[in-house]
Amino acid sequence: MATEYGNYIDGQWVGSENGDTFEVRNPANTDELVGRYQASTQDDVEAAINAASAAQDDWAETPGPSRGQILREAGDQLKARKDDTTETLVREEGKTRSEAAGEVQRAIDIFHYYAEKARDIGGTSKASSATRKELRTKREPLGVVGLITPWNYPIAIPAWKLAPALATGNTLIIKPASEAPNMTRIIFECLDDAGLPDGVANFVTGSGNEVGAPLSAHNDIDGVSFTGSTSVGTAVAQSAADDLKRVQCEMGGKNPTVVMPSADINEAVDIVGVGAFGTTGQSCTACSRAIVHEDIYHDFVNAISNYAESLEVGAGIDNPDMGPHISESELNSTLQYVDLAREGGATLQAGGTELNGGEFDDGHYVEPTVFSDVESAMRIAQEEVFGPVLSILKVSDFEEAVKVANDVEFGLSASIVTQDITEANRFIDDIESGVAKVNEKTTGLELHVPFGGYKNSSTNTYREQGDAAIDFFTSTKTIYTNY
Ligand code: NAD
Repeated sequence: MATEYGNYIDGQWVGSENGDTFEVRNPANTDELVGRYQASTQDDVEAAINAASAAQDDWAETPGPSRGQILREAGDQLKARKDDTTETLVREEGKTRSEAAGEVQRAIDIFHYYAEKARDIGGTSKASSATRKELRTKREPLGVVGLITPWNYPIAIPAWKLAPALATGNTLIIKPASEAPNMTRIIFECLDDAGLPDGVANFVTGSGNEVGAPLSAHNDIDGVSFTGSTSVGTAVAQSAADDLKRVQCEMGGKNPTVVMPSADINEAVDIVGVGAFGTTGQSCTACSRAIVHEDIYHDFVNAISNYAESLEVGAGIDNPDMGPHISESELNSTLQYVDLAREGGATLQAGGTELNGGEFDDGHYVEPTVFSDVESAMRIAQEEVFGPVLSILKVSDFEEAVKVANDVEFGLSASIVTQDITEANRFIDDIESGVAKVNEKTTGLELHVPFGGYKNSSTNTYREQGDAAIDFFTSTKTIYTNY
């Protein structure tokens, strides 16, 4: 019998009003029930919003360093629980052990980082145009914020929204993705143990329609921070705009890595391979397109296909190179894209098949997949696959490479592999992407610099992480004092 987990509302672990629950199973072994969570309704959201509203003034008035002390303690608690949390993440989301350990560490670091930032929240002072007049700004919390998160980084993304929201004095309600809610729940245990006052942070599980939608529409919510697909994020942004809430949505990607003739082929294969197949291709920043110069195209196609075929696929708990898909629907979606690519005229170079037999029968496994002869107009080159599928496109010069790289509706992360400094800098100038990298994979982010997309990867309102998150979660008041 799997454990049933509650919502956390007003400092208490509680069941949903209607008593309904939903199950989460291990994507590597669907016989294993990992947990049962509350299938909450709008009534539960209402209770959470009431609790957050009641706690708002006191939390906003709590000195920044005291708020930071609670975040630091929560980070310490998570650190003490790192091994167990890593294993839970593997069992719930399917990541490999190394990927999961890295992600849990990221969440710890985020709490410790914003623990310090909480001390540092201030404003600016400017020269006034009159004598005996002081002109300055101060930052104030937005108020009550709603946070909506996806399943693919189920601890890092909640952490990078929760910690800055709390550091800046907001109270909040978070709705994690139903595929993997346990990581956010563990963060809440840590916050509770760290002494977070009742009502300041509330955790409500349930469907997008019942829990997510009311959070983005409710009049008592002052800001919404969403990460997920472009289709849902667009609806969230539109709904939040009805009463002019502050909103930030970070969404899908179709991230390219350009490989130029000066690149070392082995280095390029590592950069593209880790970017494409790491986390089973289920990163918003995953490399989905390798845009390769014709002079090295043939060698690159051979080398990356060998790389894909060499990867060991298995249950994340055994720490293979690549784990399963999170769910049957994600697996099926990837397989549909494989069919589409074939039908569209791309050449399958490696993988392309669901893995069956033995342990594979119990989970959602697919082979790391490589297509060559992909044209930019094909759907496989345009749409987010969100699985371990790499498309290779051939180009004849740098200008064409950048044109192809930009020829999508998304603009989240992009990289170039080159030894030519002019190419590297022109790529940084010309790429339409919120993150631009030189000689590095498209995945992987530092926690203290802004993160967000261009074009349909983002609402392009505010960035996340670092100081950008402080900007999102605060309003600026401008003060004129005559004396
Ligand atoms: P999703 O859009 O299906 O769900 C995201 C969250 O929104 C979930 O909690 C879901 O329950 C909720 N939701 C669903 N319908 C809703 C509604 N009507 N109103 C409010 N909330 C609703 O995304 P997913 O499948 O969980 O995650 C994968 C997607 O997230 C991919 O497109 C990926 O690129 C994107 N992503 C983006 C980033 C980024 O920072 N840009 C990071 C990670 C993932």
